[in-house]
Amino acid sequence: MAVTRLIDLADAAACPRVVVKIGSALLVGKDGQPRRDWLAGMAGEIAAMHARGQDVVVVSSGAIALGAARLGLDKGGRGSLPDAQAAASVGQIALAGLWSELLGAHGITAAQMLLTLEDLEDRRRYLNASSTIARLLAAGAVPVVNENDSVATEEIRFGDNDRLAARVAQAAMADAVLLLSDVDGLYDRHPSQDGAQLLPEVHGITPQVRAMATGFSSSGMGSGGMVSKLQAAEIAERAGIALAILNGTHDRPISRALDRGVGTVFLPRRRDRARKAWLGGRLRLKGTLVVDEGCVKALREGKSLLAAGITVVEGKFERGDAVAVCDASGMVVAQGLAEYSTGECQALTGRRNSEQAEILGYAPRPAVIHRDHMVLL
Ligand code: GLU
Repeated sequence: MAVTRLIDLADAAACPRVVVKIGSALLVGKDGQPRRDWLAGMAGEIAAMHARGQDVVVVSSGAIALGAARLGLDKGGRGSLPDAQAAASVGQIALAGLWSELLGAHGITAAQMLLTLEDLEDRRRYLNASSTIARLLAAGAVPVVNENDSVATEEIRFGDNDRLAARVAQAAMADAVLLLSDVDGLYDRHPSQDGAQLLPEVHGITPQVRAMATGFSSSGMGSGGMVSKLQAAEIAERAGIALAILNGTHDRPISRALDRGVGTVFLPRRRDRARKAWLGGRLRLKGTLVVDEGCVKALREGKSLLAAGITVVEGKFERGDAVAVCDASGMVVAQGLAEYSTGECQALTGRRNSEQAEILGYAPRPAVIHRDHMVLL
């Protein structure tokens, strides 16, 4: 069984494990106070999912918005990184308390997990987070995850919880991610335009689908928006995970949207093996290898990336770092772990394997990116 339609998201057999992402604007009112009634309803929805046998992981935003009100910071606490970090640390403790209380009212134990981008991009830490989530779920708890905003600096931040939710879904080995938003789903053009149609199902995120996402604006409270939702959908798709955008602004929004069939579900077309899916979802790439046409063809046939196919090396990376592989037009064709540093790659650019020992002064590794450490996009 797998998710093939929106309604399957409510089916424990088709969708035994779900990540529910809740944005700041749903959790926190304009006055900076938690929307308690709505949240109590959401806790009820999570309890109902639990009761029908679904494991639930919550990705909850709202820390910055809640903390900003308490500290009296302007711009919702998002005026500067130090403001956001201070607001997050004040807001997070309140947020965790709310979840613990509201889920507790249904006899469910809430567990807090604060993660940074690095925790999920480093393979060892990712596996650690993954096993903690698995243990919590096995014990019947609901992990409530947020970005650890109070320590995450600009360059190592997710910044939006949409992509965090997709990465958490991978780590949780979830079947689906529900992104609760302030719109019904993805429309074929801006929803305010005449004749705009909601897309119930999307099979593959094509350039046309991406074009539909631009022009959407977010509430101004969170940092998401349709673009980050599509990026999240791409990460999920590669990992074989369905991702749905549902309107969260109503009471009990999940059952409402699923009962009425209103929302957009992005259906996965493939399921990369776990390690490759993790690699393909990596957000922080240290450099780019531009390769020629022959090399692109070889990669698509499942070959490793050889130095002879490289034309340009960009960025600053060391052996083991994740890099993008682009064709001459700049389109990213693959992502993988480099066997060589930037300097070594530059020295080897366009050269045959037989020349490498002489150039480097030591016995070379046969590929610049081995196919086992590479995922085609
Ligand atoms: N982690 C942020 C918070 O808790 C929210 C990020 C987002 O806007 O998606 O406030």
